Amino acid sequence: MSKNLNARRLNMQALAAEGAALVEITPLPNMERLAQELHGLEPDSAINWRASAELRPRSGADDDVWLRLEAKASLPLTCQRCMAAVATAVEIDQWYRFVATEDIAMAEDDQSEEDLLVMEPQFDLLAVLEDELLMALPLVPMHETCPVSPVFSAGEAELASQEDAEPHPFAALAQLKKPK
Ligand SMILES: [Zn+2]
Repeated sequence: MSKNLNARRLNMQALAAEGAALVEITPLPNMERLAQELHGLEPDSAINWRASAELRPRSGADDDVWLRLEAKASLPLTCQRCMAAVATAVEIDQWYRFVATEDIAMAEDDQSEEDLLVMEPQFDLLAVLEDELLMALPLVPMHETCPVSPVFSAGEAELASQEDAEPHPFAALAQLKKPK
């Protein structure tokens, strides 16, 4: 799409009528809630995402507006074992249907496989994307194998190498304690 659209103020009805896809790259610092969850932030970090909207006819009513939102990102989270950054792949592929009011959304939510969104004349699509990314984050991010050893095992390793080089102090102590 060549027009310069603001993803925080979208006319979803018009987007769906056009049937075109919106392909965007949003810098991570523009998503403050998500940025807070990250282990530091590279200045050029960004989320690649794609939104395509379409109209689907509904008998006896106006066409429904449907939206497909896709995003892929590798986000630096904090490993809960070693506290270093762990690159975490996050993927979103979600369908939504727009409804007119919050009441309709509440009433129809249980029986709908797709997620429901309440239509607004200037729809904030980035907020929806950010919500989805936050929900897609693992509860306990962790390396499969941590790159650095935790502190306690580093200490053990040091002790082990000393053992090779010189007699263990406790071994000498044991010798002293031995009954004669
Ligand atoms: Zn780790």
